[in-house]
Amino acid sequence: MNLEIDKKKYIDLNRSEYGDLYPTFRFPTEAESRDYGAEREQLLGRLSPHVRWDYQRTKADTTRMSPGCRLCGDGYWSCLFVNNRCNAACFYCPARQTGQALPGTSSLDFPEPEDYADYVQALGFRGVSISGGEPLLDFAKSVRFIEVLRKRFGKELYLWLYSNGICADKEKLQILAGAGLDEIRFDISATAYSLAKVAWAAGIIPHITVEIPAIPEDVEIVQNLLPQMVNIGVNYLNLHQIRVTRHNAPQLIARGYTFLHGPKITVLESELTALRLLLHAREKRIALPINYCSFIYRHRFQTGAARRRHAALIKQSYEDITEAGLIRTMGSMAVPDRIQYLTDQLSAANIAPENWYYSPAKSTLYFSQAVLKVIFPLLDNLHLDYHVSLLLPSVSYRRSFREIALNERRVVIVERAPVLADIELNPVEMRLFYDTFVKIPARRDLYRVIEEPEEPHVLSAQDLAEHWRDIYFYEKIKTGLYEYY
Ligand code: SF4
Repeated sequence: MNLEIDKKKYIDLNRSEYGDLYPTFRFPTEAESRDYGAEREQLLGRLSPHVRWDYQRTKADTTRMSPGCRLCGDGYWSCLFVNNRCNAACFYCPARQTGQALPGTSSLDFPEPEDYADYVQALGFRGVSISGGEPLLDFAKSVRFIEVLRKRFGKELYLWLYSNGICADKEKLQILAGAGLDEIRFDISATAYSLAKVAWAAGIIPHITVEIPAIPEDVEIVQNLLPQMVNIGVNYLNLHQIRVTRHNAPQLIARGYTFLHGPKITVLESELTALRLLLHAREKRIALPINYCSFIYRHRFQTGAARRRHAALIKQSYEDITEAGLIRTMGSMAVPDRIQYLTDQLSAANIAPENWYYSPAKSTLYFSQAVLKVIFPLLDNLHLDYHVSLLLPSVSYRRSFREIALNERRVVIVERAPVLADIELNPVEMRLFYDTFVKIPARRDLYRVIEEPEEPHVLSAQDLAEHWRDIYFYEKIKTGLYEYY
């Protein structure tokens, strides 16, 4: 079973986010969705002998990705936006580049590179990218950030920079390399697919990536450029699926694209273009690693990674972080004697006491996943709560929070907000929950006081309460590219 928030919820979400623009998008009819879906399946089938898919089958060609992309997928990447201004005018640009912003990331401003380095250290990032708008328009500032980060972390940190290349020259590229930049990523679609600056950078910066949106009208241009990219020393080609924002929507609509519902609205033809380019390169044996960066990958893995990172800073020791990045609280109500019996079993199984907490006021024993593996057969009720964690520049005073001191001058705030409160599972759901999210093979020591669980139940949809869909969504990252509708 593999549920995600249901279609209707995403359609409602898209309608409210895009407002007056929503009726102007052309979404596929049911028949078109089927046809496009079949076309994608066919492309994926032809690609399967050539590429490995990873990250729950949302990212292709994962054996040869840039180290930066690997860090992104594994949840160790921070992107710093230095200036929010740009000297290009790409029709797909997601934001108005007004140039009014301070350097920052994740709603936090970092005018001082040292404070940003403290943030990178506190949150355990291993890769940082410098983005803009166009970071080379604020060249000295971008270099300063790179220098400070390189000095602080040495080779432990992988550093890359995004640029449209317009104001890149050999001297600037030399300075970036001298400051410690590991990789530069050029969006050549901003400059009519010129590879001139890319060729200059090869031989100066250690890793060269071309990172472009997959633009359906330009498929032949890119196809024809692939051998040249290899020849000039491009190491990686990253193809993005175009995502729709309120800023770029009018330009995308004017191009007659087909739009897709989902966590954000995306361009259907952009995904098919990326897959066609990937297939072309593999069938022609062009030796260029190509990474298709689907929007659903970015949504599931970048969002999940941020949640997991923040959750670790605010969760209690007896709570767990789910695969989807939510904080899960499990509890069981019982009379004091029964609680005593349960905790005796935990002590006998050598489960560390920080894995549980007894609240006499609520007559509830709260416990982590490690505990549930021991006491599951002994429980007659199981309650669940889920919280999402948020990183904020200051306290909202609407939720419980924790201050994280970056240094003597600077704190950031992690808050936790409830998303699903006090769900009591029925006996059928308890078993399904255990089998689906908790049981893992062969930790014999954890099973000392219990019998091996039975075979998983086979459940029909009628057995499941409405909240089961939400529980699944908060527990698991769904597999595969996103459905067309
Ligand atoms: S180069 Fe990047 S930031 Fe500049 S307009 Fe194009 S997409 Fe936007």
